[in-house]
Amino acid sequence: MKTHFSHDVLIIGSGAAGLTLALNLSSVGTIAVISKDRLKDGSTWYAQGGIAAVLDDLDSTDAHVKDTLSAGAGLCHEEAVRFTVENSADAINWLVEQGVSFTKNTDNQDFHLTKEGGHSHRRIIHSADATGKEVHSTLIDRIRNSDNIDIFEQHIAVDLIQQADQHKPRLRCSGAYIYNRAQDVVCTFDAKVVILATGGASKVYLYTSNPDGASGDGIAMAWRAGCRVANMEFNQFHPTCLYHPKAKTFLITEALRGEGAHLKLPSGERFMHLFDEREELAPRDIVARAIDHEIKRLGCDHLYLDISHKSEEFISSHFPTVKKQCLQYGIDITKEPIPIVPAAHYTCGGVMVNQYGATDLENLYAIGETSFTGLHGANRMASNSLLECIVYARSAAARIRQQLANIEPVSPPPPWDESKVTNSDEDVVISHNWDELRRFMWDYVGIVRTHKRLERAQHRVKLLQKEIAEYYSNYKVGNDLVELRNLVTVAQLIIRSAIERKESRGLHYSLDHPELGKITRDTILVPTNFAGQNVIVDQP
Ligand SMILES: Cc1cc2nc3c(=O)[nH]c(=O)nc-3n(C[C@H](O)[C@H](O)[C@H](O)COP(=O)(O)OP(=O)(O)OC[C@H]3O[C@@H](n4cnc5c(N)ncnc54)[C@H](O)[C@@H]3O)c2cc1C
Repeated sequence: MKTHFSHDVLIIGSGAAGLTLALNLSSVGTIAVISKDRLKDGSTWYAQGGIAAVLDDLDSTDAHVKDTLSAGAGLCHEEAVRFTVENSADAINWLVEQGVSFTKNTDNQDFHLTKEGGHSHRRIIHSADATGKEVHSTLIDRIRNSDNIDIFEQHIAVDLIQQADQHKPRLRCSGAYIYNRAQDVVCTFDAKVVILATGGASKVYLYTSNPDGASGDGIAMAWRAGCRVANMEFNQFHPTCLYHPKAKTFLITEALRGEGAHLKLPSGERFMHLFDEREELAPRDIVARAIDHEIKRLGCDHLYLDISHKSEEFISSHFPTVKKQCLQYGIDITKEPIPIVPAAHYTCGGVMVNQYGATDLENLYAIGETSFTGLHGANRMASNSLLECIVYARSAAARIRQQLANIEPVSPPPPWDESKVTNSDEDVVISHNWDELRRFMWDYVGIVRTHKRLERAQHRVKLLQKEIAEYYSNYKVGNDLVELRNLVTVAQLIIRSAIERKESRGLHYSLDHPELGKITRDTILVPTNFAGQNVIVDQP
């Protein structure tokens, strides 16, 4: 069985970020795209609302920048915001060129633009309420038909490979060890350039809108390889996920609120006016906290989102997916309110990168939700994330294209060593630790935090880290163990960052420090084995 593979470019992750990068590089070298499940199993597929971009004559770059800065609560890096917004129309044009079909107005055939929380204009381009599926399936079709791209599904990256060459003593990234789940073997993939496009880490929380693979693998791998990680305390909780005992969390798109849906208490009363003058269209952190507050105040499990006052025709044409999904659970959204709870949704922090997605480790890039570009600050504005995926993937591709010819190959990396491990005979340790971790992260490091709760979480995470490290060094790797090891690393990074932030800002809310601090600063964590390429990332 072949266990060693060589490519020019190794892309770990097959969401919007990874596939956009692959398609933009397919003419310049051999590419491997690694996906731990099927190509479509990432957050991208599930995105409903759309992609923010300046496409309307009445809108402007300045307005989009201003809205993003305002949602980011003083922590956005303005250069990153401007760069992203200025490239938004090109990013959408590129998607249209790939064949993505966005919803159009029936009267004039222009793209229909919708509005979401925090946006001062209608600027969300979408494909009804299943934008991610349309974008992702189009990119997947294109990838499957590309000559230079080898696809490896059911392969999970375990760790990055770092090597020095004769000319440069400093380590550089030269590949990754990747576990082939079907064949139960760890393979060596070497490459001139490696890109982490592994998505977010919301699976670290008990309730999440994310698919199962969102275990922060890229962030954990980069951290272990010596890359800095920033702003991990800012995890966005989506205010409205379907609450139903049989539903694995299903997100109710923000566009419902954009189109006039009301949040209601079990009594049927509206309450958002008590929290923010923008009511249902306040930024997500405010809405999620308001719902959390009301749920705790009333001691109930969930609240409601109601769009049933709109016409059946309007609801069916704008929200066919939400309508269908809710009907599966016996809820007719055209006639009754939808039961909702908040759930972990988006990781604003991540691996520190510059405008080209370059990390601290030479020849290692990070793009998409796994990266920290400075765009989102303390709170991501709705629909800016898919935009970030496309813009930074294209920017990284441009840089890698220039760089590739000048990278000399290193000697083949050593194969994965399994000589000191055996098959596990107690997988229950993995499932138990997995449940414990996600539960205490939800209880102690969730929407509202206190110093005491964070300290409790820190204590527990240390114990778990020790246990999992011991397990990892004694037993053969498997998918669940790889993910758990990464989840516990990411949990530790989130807790550390939350403890360091002595204020309430954006998505980080502490009862001990409810006020906004005077100094705006990112929480930058530096690993002890810092790789030291030291990419320059502007400060907010
Ligand atoms: C329900 C939902 C709705 C959303 N709606 C919107 C929206 O309307 N607009 C918007 O802008 N954003 C939205 N978001 C956020 C947005 O979808 C994500 O931020 C974005 O899709 C992330 O893309 P990505 O390419 O970075 O990662 P993903 O699409 O998550 O892809 C990650 C990929 O990495 C792979 N992977 C991970 N770890 C490994 C590993 N160790 N080895 C191999 N492969 C690995 C996964 O298999 C997957 O292929 C939504 C998110 C969710 C969950």
